[in-house]
Amino acid sequence: MADTSAIIDRLRRVVGDRVIVDTDRMASYTTDWTGRFRGTTVAVVRPGTTAEVAGVVRACRELGVALVPQGGNTGLVGGGVPLHGEVVLTLQGMRSLSPVDGTAGQVTAEAGVTLAAVQQAARSAGWEYGVDLASRDSATVGGMVATNAGGTRVLRHGDTRAQVLGVEAVLGTGAVLSHLGGLIKDNTGYHLPGLFCGSEGTLAVVTAARLRLVPALPERTVAVLAFATVTDAVAASVLFRRSLTTLDAAELFLAPGLDLVCSVTGLPAPFDRRYPAYLLVEAADRSDPTGALAEVTGSVGGVLDVAVATGAHRRAELWRYREAHTEAINTLGPPHKLDVTLPLGSLAAFIDDIPGTVRSVSASARTWLFGHIGDGNVHVNVTGVAPDDERVDGAVLHRVAAAGGSISAEHGIGAAKRRWLTLSRSAEEIHAFGAVKRALDPDGILNPHVLLPEQAGAR
Ligand SMILES: Cc1cc2nc3c(=O)[nH]c(=O)nc-3n(C[C@H](O)[C@H](O)[C@H](O)COP(=O)(O)OP(=O)(O)OC[C@H]3O[C@@H](n4cnc5c(N)ncnc54)[C@H](O)[C@@H]3O)c2cc1C
Repeated sequence: MADTSAIIDRLRRVVGDRVIVDTDRMASYTTDWTGRFRGTTVAVVRPGTTAEVAGVVRACRELGVALVPQGGNTGLVGGGVPLHGEVVLTLQGMRSLSPVDGTAGQVTAEAGVTLAAVQQAARSAGWEYGVDLASRDSATVGGMVATNAGGTRVLRHGDTRAQVLGVEAVLGTGAVLSHLGGLIKDNTGYHLPGLFCGSEGTLAVVTAARLRLVPALPERTVAVLAFATVTDAVAASVLFRRSLTTLDAAELFLAPGLDLVCSVTGLPAPFDRRYPAYLLVEAADRSDPTGALAEVTGSVGGVLDVAVATGAHRRAELWRYREAHTEAINTLGPPHKLDVTLPLGSLAAFIDDIPGTVRSVSASARTWLFGHIGDGNVHVNVTGVAPDDERVDGAVLHRVAAAGGSISAEHGIGAAKRRWLTLSRSAEEIHAFGAVKRALDPDGILNPHVLLPEQAGAR
C-alpha cells in the first residue's frame, strides 16, 4: 500500500485542496453519531462532482487503498466511519437538487442533499417525499439509499427502495453508471437501484438518485394512546392498520423511555398518570382525518388515556415524545443499537422478555425499547455496556433469529452486526452477495469491512 503522503498527493490531484488531513477537522468524520465507533484515517476527501468521485475511486484502486463513503454520518451501525484506516469519501460537497418535475412527481437529488431539503422541495411543489426519519436535517440521499432507510412512513409509502426510480453511481472500478430517466415502467434488465439500496457503500458510491414523490396530504391528526400492556398496544396497532385507510404512522414507546425523554428535553409528560406502554398514531388525508381516527380509537380495546393533536405545533410536541428517544438515550453514553423486526405475532412477548435476556448477560445493562411498531420493527437500545462488549448484542440477535425475525430492520448490518449476518442470511445467500461484490468492486476497495463476512467479500 502507498504511504500517507503519496495517498494525499494523489487525492489532491483529483480534487485539489478539498482533502482534509488536519486531525481536529477530521474528528467529526471518524467517529459515528453514537460515539460507539471511532476510527482513524489519513484523509477525508470531498469531491464536488461525479467525475471527481470516479477519479477518487480510481486513485484509491491504483493505490490499493480502501475507502468509506459517508453522507450525513447519522448511521447507527458503524458502517460510515473508517474503522480500518480507510480514506473517508464524503458526499457532503454534492448538494444539487433538480427542480421538482411536477408532472411526473419526481426529483433528482445529488447524494449529499439532506432528507429535509428533499422534503422541503417536494412540499414547495405540492408533493411530499414518502420517507421520514428523525435524522432528517443531516441524513443524506446517498446514505438513505445505501442503508435503504425506513423510518416512520414505511407502512404507508414503503422504504427508500420503494422511492428510488434511478441512480447514478460509481462502481469500485471507477466506472460511472447513470440511469436517472425516472420511467415508472422500465423492465430492461437487472434493477440496479434496488441492488444499491441497502448495499451500505460496498458495491458503489451513489452520487445521485431519481426519487418518486407522493401526493401531499396536508390534513393531519396525531394521537398518543396509553395502555397497560405492550400486548394491548400491539393489538391496537394491528386494528389501526386494518381499519384506518389514512394511517400514516404507528409508533410504540414505553414508560422508561418517556421518562428519560421528558427529563432530557424538559417536555412535560403527556398525561397526568404514568402508563406502561404508548402507541402514537398519525392519520393524514386531504380532508380532516380526525373523525375517522376517533372512530377507530373508540373501537380499540384497553385504551387508558388519549392525547390528540390537530395543530402543527401540538402534533410536533406529541411526535417529540417518540422521536427524541434516540438523542435522549445517547446522553447516557454510547448505546448498543439493535434494530430488529419480529413477526407481529411474536412482537409483544419479545418486548416483554428482552430486558431480562439483556440483564442475564450484563447485570449493569439497561434496555430501552421503542420503534416503528406498524412494521414489526423495534429498536432495542442497550446502555451501561462497554462499546466493545458484544455479549449483549449476540444474546439479543440470537433471540430475534429464534423468533423468526431479522437482525436489521432498517439501519443495516454495518460493522456492528457483521458477525451475526448468518443469523438472517443463508450461506448460499452470502455466497451470492460475495459474487456480486467481486463483480462490481473487484479489488474490494469499497467499504470492505462492513456487511459481508471477511471470507465472502474481496478482503
Ligand atoms: C436521531 C436518528 C434517528 C434515526 N432514525 C432512523 C429511522 O427512523 N429509520 C432509519 O432507517 N434510520 C434512522 N436513522 C439512521 C440514519 O439516519 C439512516 O441510516 C440514514 O439513512 C443514514 O444517512 P447518512 O447520510 O447519515 O449516512 P451515513 O451515516 O453517512 O452512512 C451510512 C452508510 O451508508 C454508506 N453511504 C453513505 N453515503 C453513501 C453514498 N453516497 N454511496 C454509497 N454509500 C454511502 C456509508 O458508507 C454507511 O455504510 C436515524 C439516525 C438518527 C441519528
